[in-house]
Amino acid sequence: MSVLQYAEGLTDRQAADQVRTGSPGWLREIPAVQVLRRAWVEQYHRDGKGCAGGRARTSRRADAGSPRPTTPDARYGVKRGSGWCGYKTHLSETCEPDVHHLITQVVTTDATVADTEVTEAVHQGLAARELLPGEHDVDAGYVTAAHIVTARDEYGIELLGPVGLDTCHENHEGEHFTQSAFTVDWQARKVTCPEGRISASWSDERKSSGTPITRVHFTSQDCGSCPVRMKCTKAADGRRGRSLTLLPRDQQQALEARRREQLTEQWQQRYNIRAGVEATISQAVRRTRIRRTRFTDLPKTHLGHVFAATAINIIRLDAWLTETPLGQTRTSHLARLDLAA
Ligand code: SF4
Repeated sequence: MSVLQYAEGLTDRQAADQVRTGSPGWLREIPAVQVLRRAWVEQYHRDGKGCAGGRARTSRRADAGSPRPTTPDARYGVKRGSGWCGYKTHLSETCEPDVHHLITQVVTTDATVADTEVTEAVHQGLAARELLPGEHDVDAGYVTAAHIVTARDEYGIELLGPVGLDTCHENHEGEHFTQSAFTVDWQARKVTCPEGRISASWSDERKSSGTPITRVHFTSQDCGSCPVRMKCTKAADGRRGRSLTLLPRDQQQALEARRREQLTEQWQQRYNIRAGVEATISQAVRRTRIRRTRFTDLPKTHLGHVFAATAINIIRLDAWLTETPLGQTRTSHLARLDLAA
């Protein structure tokens, strides 16, 4: 250990870095340098190619999410073409009909975090305070097959929200065979296609994200001579058989069940109740100005959101105690003109 290393309390590796770069180690502890480092790490990585050995990452999240020196936790997010710099808040409330609704959970993330990443955090927070509902109504952004299964098996919640349609990459314009046209025998690890052919291979794999999947293939011999091949696979020359990607059994079955039921009138009537939370978002924006944060970091911004939710609950409790009726759903001027016509 050198005298300098001893004086600055450096590890061997830190001392070696200092000798190599020629800059003192304490420089990296300066907050502004840390922010700059994070920005560079998100935008570039060393790959030994190109000038200076760096190359820009191309992920949208990295491009859109760079921190600012003054608000290091804020990120630039984009949703349906609208962008903003800062955070997202996710509000959960009770929604039994004909009673005043109270906000039970507030989750705050930076603006780049996808809604699907929040579903589990919402359930964990509600479970910790023994406020888990029997049914949780959410929009499509919060629902995947894995979430439906986890909510059911670990929290006893029915997660009610629409899932994506069956649009695998093999789909064609017009009539085509989606996954639902195939019969899966999970015990035998075989799939039967609409023409009655049996799959030739079944392999358990993992996506780069770690999600377990099963890949199923039919042979090119079966598909090459199939009279309905054009409805099934893009490999028009018949040199490649149809393939399917399946989720784990419980998730695949939950996904298919939800795809079927969300098309029914009964399910859609039941799901209508979710739209009520838009009024809560609107109330939070109008009454508490929740779109603007007074703070520069995420923990304090979250605290601000909790205060805003508490204020809304107090307003609602006051309305309940004074027997103020619930506000009626407003009809926009344009919708009124449409109704009049
Ligand atoms: S193309 Fe292959 S998988 Fe598709 S229906 Fe024909 S035989 Fe079955």
